[in-house]
Amino acid sequence: MSTTLISGGTVVTAEGTLDADVLVDGEKIAAVLERDPGRPAGVTADRVIDATGKYVLPGGIDVHTHMEMPFGGTFSADTFETGTRAAAWGGTTTIIDFAVQAKGTSLLATLDKWHAKADGNCAIDYGFHMIVSDVNDTTLKEMDTCIAAGVNSFKMFMAYPGVFYATDGEILLAMQQAARSGATVMMHAENGIAIDQLVAQALAAGRTDPLYHGLSRPPELEGEATSRAITLAKVADCPLYIVHLSATQALAAVAEARNTGQNVFAETCPQYLFLSLDDLARPEFEGSKFVCSPPLRPKDHQDSLWRGLRTNDLSVVSTDHCPFCFKDQKELGRGDFSKIPNGMPGVEHRMDLLHQGVAAGQMSLPRWVEVTSTTPARMFGLYPRKGVIAAGSDADIVIYDPGATQTLSAATHHMNVDYSAYEGLEITGRVVTTMSRGRAVIDDGEYRGGAGHGTFLARGLNQYLL
Ligand SMILES: [Zn+2]
Repeated sequence: MSTTLISGGTVVTAEGTLDADVLVDGEKIAAVLERDPGRPAGVTADRVIDATGKYVLPGGIDVHTHMEMPFGGTFSADTFETGTRAAAWGGTTTIIDFAVQAKGTSLLATLDKWHAKADGNCAIDYGFHMIVSDVNDTTLKEMDTCIAAGVNSFKMFMAYPGVFYATDGEILLAMQQAARSGATVMMHAENGIAIDQLVAQALAAGRTDPLYHGLSRPPELEGEATSRAITLAKVADCPLYIVHLSATQALAAVAEARNTGQNVFAETCPQYLFLSLDDLARPEFEGSKFVCSPPLRPKDHQDSLWRGLRTNDLSVVSTDHCPFCFKDQKELGRGDFSKIPNGMPGVEHRMDLLHQGVAAGQMSLPRWVEVTSTTPARMFGLYPRKGVIAAGSDADIVIYDPGATQTLSAATHHMNVDYSAYEGLEITGRVVTTMSRGRAVIDDGEYRGGAGHGTFLARGLNQYLL
């Protein structure tokens, strides 16, 4: 086993900052050694990394990714190999991806299929959530088997009728089943039945540009679905996690439920904090690059979301990374916005983008670590193995230079997609080293990881349940 000493840096955790050296032994953190000014720590190691002037963070945890996901006859463009490599470049050391049950298939066969996709291919550790799109007696029983296998969060959809959509009755049944084990139901909360009518009306009126993807999915229909999901979860007494919350109306519903003490949690994503409906309106079909669901919102929603992150009504920032290339994939929807594959690339830039929030005074340094690593670890049963710099935890560590600058671009990013949603954006801060279970995967501007280093994480239950 080899040892590494990360010396001279500022350790940032959800609690605060500490001038400390971090000793890594094999795959684990062996010690966090507070520095005594003027007195050397007297610790030796096989390798010493000088982190003077840098932050030392627990590795990022992105709990919402879609690698090689089937959607509308195509697949998202990152494989587990390319997507986890790009994640490491951006300081993320764990992803939780979604296994997708196709209608008429079993949850267990689905889980096997996703294990086969990821096994031996990931650069960083990974877990799975399960998308339940076919609720029946067999599926409900299989949920317990999934939970025993470390997959205890089940995503359902109030959107996409005919594909993933579940009725209120089906959602209630799945919530009741999950609740028996303390498992969490994750919800894509948009009223898909009403949205489909608005989409049909827009297309019939000849409004086919990407902008109408946004205009046919109004924020009120996210607010309504979020409220309905919260009510169903209350009746079923089931923990609920709202994914990719984008709208002020939905945030208000979550805040109200949390104020009553209900086990309701929510995440948002960088695209909702930094991009807006204006991007969907870009000419020459460029708007298609920004098609995701829920859609990007008018700019005024961004202020609510930043505030929600400060008040903890939004507890997590994930990416919903689901990249489709502009050429040949997004282009499927030329002349009909409803045929544009839904999703955007983002797994590489979550830590960096949120760091801009720190630089702009939107959130504190510890809060940055909390929403990108510590809370995701506790929410999805990985803490304290992940999400913290502490003796005994996995050595998933990011050395981050807060003063470096970089320009985001498709020409330099590592995601397997032909555009960047943040092309040309100049930002402050950059990953110097990403360590996954003691292995420096990104080191001095080079990728030194390997497919298959990442292992599957069987997860425990949500640690925030009241
Ligand atoms: Zn998603």
